[in-house]
Amino acid sequence: MFNEDFLQYVWKFRLFNKAGLLTTLGETVEIVSPGLQNIDSGPDFQHAKIKIGNTLWAGNVEVHLSSSGWKQHGHTTDDAYDNVILHVVCRDDTPVYRKDGTRIPTIILNDRIPDELFAKYNWLINEPKQIIPCEASIGSIDPLLIHNWLTRVLVERLQKRSNQLAAAIQTNKGDWEETFYQYLAANFGFKVNALPFELLAKSLPQNILAKHKNNPMQIEALIFGQAGFLTADLKDEYPVTLRAEYQFLQKKYNLKPLQKHLWKFSKLRPLNFPTIRLAQFAALVYQSNHLFSKVLDIRNYDDYAKLFTDIKMNSYWDDHYQFDKPSKPAAKNLGKSSVDILLLNTIVLYLFSYGNQHQQERYVNRALHLLEFLPVEQNSIIAGFVTMGVKAGTAYESQALLELKNVYCNYKKCLQCGIGNKILKPAM
Ligand code: SF4
Repeated sequence: MFNEDFLQYVWKFRLFNKAGLLTTLGETVEIVSPGLQNIDSGPDFQHAKIKIGNTLWAGNVEVHLSSSGWKQHGHTTDDAYDNVILHVVCRDDTPVYRKDGTRIPTIILNDRIPDELFAKYNWLINEPKQIIPCEASIGSIDPLLIHNWLTRVLVERLQKRSNQLAAAIQTNKGDWEETFYQYLAANFGFKVNALPFELLAKSLPQNILAKHKNNPMQIEALIFGQAGFLTADLKDEYPVTLRAEYQFLQKKYNLKPLQKHLWKFSKLRPLNFPTIRLAQFAALVYQSNHLFSKVLDIRNYDDYAKLFTDIKMNSYWDDHYQFDKPSKPAAKNLGKSSVDILLLNTIVLYLFSYGNQHQQERYVNRALHLLEFLPVEQNSIIAGFVTMGVKAGTAYESQALLELKNVYCNYKKCLQCGIGNKILKPAM
């Protein structure tokens, strides 16, 4: 059985036999333009141009499986349907009229849709599959077509996340720097400690840190103190000094620290302990005033990476992973994979959003270009696409493939997918 989505698809791309097309009242029909598909409320297609008999009509087109759908869907009394010039159906079981009593011309597509097209659609949507509906065909699709479609899906993904970011910026009264600082902090938590990092940043606005930008000890005191780590039982000289600084600053700014138990250590390698991440974050804050403005000026992967690899932590951390617990000396710089995650989740998103909201395409392009230097995520979704013959060389492809699977394939939106269109459409 057809469904309405399929019938709309057939109409949209005119994938039916148009020879000798007549309305149910016997008038000739010529489709000059099928119109633009409307995914909001109102008629299914707008701005169509249809020649019926000798008259060229401009208006909307409505698609139903049966013409009785018109009444069932409440269009008879809905003003939005006054300008429907053609009703496209599979079955004409009742005449349909506009509010003013005029009859709406109707065409029946049922016997005009090629069997092969419907068979392919049926196979794609209804046959059971292991991973995604088109798993047997996607590997033979032109890689250029796949790349172009993935670019579109990638932009949709970034656009969605950009809308969420826009809401956060609005909450921060339009302050991009402050919101960037909060997002960056959350991403420094790397999933496990993302929430306390975010809470920390929201409880410690950048303008307070900026007043101490020339004093690394005070920056560290503010960050560790607000995080709840400068407790009364500390013994080493370094944390004791930080605690004294923090007690003074806490009163000055009326700060309420987080509770230390929010931070998670279990199952983390020492290098990923929140104390090390906080020390790295403090060093980044100290060394990078107006970080977001710098981000806008940078143009290549190496310079973006340097923002995070060049940070120098207090020497106390050379032989500590936590306060008062000496350890073997070891370098504690952010590793490449951590830096890449920060670039992916923060810098790419910000460049894209800033370019998008300020209509400055160069930042959008820079965000997309940066993705081409970031590695592919390793997960079962990407591995599944690779087994189907779809190559993913960089985060550009893997981010798009994740979106494709989660937003399109999982919901069988093959009719709205560029790859699905290629599979279904008859060869020209
Ligand atoms: S949505 Fe596109 S990629 Fe996904 S299964 Fe359908 S045709 Fe294939």
